[in-house]
Amino acid sequence: MKTKACAAGSNYLICPICRRGKIIAEDNAAVDDMICLIPPGSKQKARWHVKCGVCKSQIGISLKR
Ligand SMILES: [Zn+2]
Repeated sequence: MKTKACAAGSNYLICPICRRGKIIAEDNAAVDDMICLIPPGSKQKARWHVKCGVCKSQIGISLKR
């Protein structure tokens, strides 16, 4: 499943599963596109996990290099 959760330009990183849950609030003034959300089941390794308040999915978080 493709996700555009890594795309910049939003005040929130949106849950890649339900696309409604706001996972992380981000400051647009900061360096963007540093954090990548990883849907459950992805082969990509996540460093942190947060639970989406809407769909209760465990969303992985990793930092881009
Ligand atoms: Zn969700």
